[in-house]
Amino acid sequence: MTDLKLKRGKEESLLRFHPWVFSGAISSVPAGLSEGDTVRVLSHDGNVLGTGHYEIGSIAVRMFSWADEPLDQRFYFDRLSSALSLRRKLGLVKDGSQAYRLCHGEGDFLPGCVIDIYGDTAVFQAHSVGIHNARNLIADALVSLGYPNVYYKSDTTLPYKAQEHLHLDASLSSFIRGGFTTDVAMENGLKFHIDWLKGQKTGFFVDQRDNRSLLERFSHSARVLNMFCYTGGFSVYAMRGGAELVHSVDSSAKAIALTDENIALNFPGDPRHTSYVRDAFDYLQRMEDGSYDLIVLDPPAFAKHRQAIPQALRGYRKLNAAAIAKIAPGGVIFTFSCSQAITPEQFRLAVFTAAASTGRKVRILHRLSQPADHPVNIYHPEGEYLKGLVIEVE
Ligand code: SAH
Repeated sequence: MTDLKLKRGKEESLLRFHPWVFSGAISSVPAGLSEGDTVRVLSHDGNVLGTGHYEIGSIAVRMFSWADEPLDQRFYFDRLSSALSLRRKLGLVKDGSQAYRLCHGEGDFLPGCVIDIYGDTAVFQAHSVGIHNARNLIADALVSLGYPNVYYKSDTTLPYKAQEHLHLDASLSSFIRGGFTTDVAMENGLKFHIDWLKGQKTGFFVDQRDNRSLLERFSHSARVLNMFCYTGGFSVYAMRGGAELVHSVDSSAKAIALTDENIALNFPGDPRHTSYVRDAFDYLQRMEDGSYDLIVLDPPAFAKHRQAIPQALRGYRKLNAAAIAKIAPGGVIFTFSCSQAITPEQFRLAVFTAAASTGRKVRILHRLSQPADHPVNIYHPEGEYLKGLVIEVE
């Protein structure tokens, strides 16, 4: 393990357990240190502050431990084992067929490591070279914990520059333990086909589970529009909730095919559902007033970085204004932002501005967030990314 010394006075945030060391805090980078190497971080006076992975970029180290300890097989096993205990406590690990997040990066004290579980398969994404280097230790830990199949899916998550250095491509997306069994997983008693090979992220948006359940309770007899439906999660719950009709919209034909498949898995031949490959803004613009009683707006992250915030806020305002203006009287909108760079306050202000532009009376019924299997380390508020509002329009 290489020692990495900080500049004088730069240990403050680490003493408050913030898990990132920024490059400006480092006194000098030792020769021969490579991206992804494990480092022992020392204060300027030589006190050990903890252990982490070295990275090239504005975040120079992601901290894994506040002790002087090796990041070995036992370390990863212990971290993942406590992550599993939390999911057991949450009632998510039932009969080996469920979908849930086992590891949420910094929120589970494993920065850069995201693992979603679909039955007996773990879909594992490395967001850093350090986690890429540790992938076999992590895969072995997953097998020991009862997940015999580990699909490693990091071609879109590893830093692009690092991928060039690693001279890797094919091996960034493959089974590294076990193999394919089934790609159907359960969520609250509903079946979902998960396309982890080609789908976005790990193949499914596990983070909307609790919000989908809430939508189900609003769905009875409602005419529902699920905008940005992807795999149709909200649509399937609305169907079970007794919706009069459900329209699913996404600009991607692949997403619509997944939605249709999931509707067919749960409600074969049910005429209440129709899907449309359409652009959201175009659909909302052409839609007739009063066509829907319940609308879901769950767009992709409009702001992937800070510079994009103003433009993202304009996008949220435009989208919400169109839905608020046209929803039937007494209608309810589930509106979300998954942009980490946008704060809940900024999002609420965007929805407020959208509402004000329509002249309709709007009340907030629920404030939504990410579920408990996406925990936020209180010392790392950056881990909070999903926010939503349920609003009622008079
Ligand atoms: N609500 C989904 C997740 C949404 S992901 C769930 O619960 O699983 C965002 C989706 O928005 C993607 O499927 C993407 O294809 C779609 N999308 C992106 N831009 C779009 C646009 N302009 N119009 C319609 N859909 C769009």
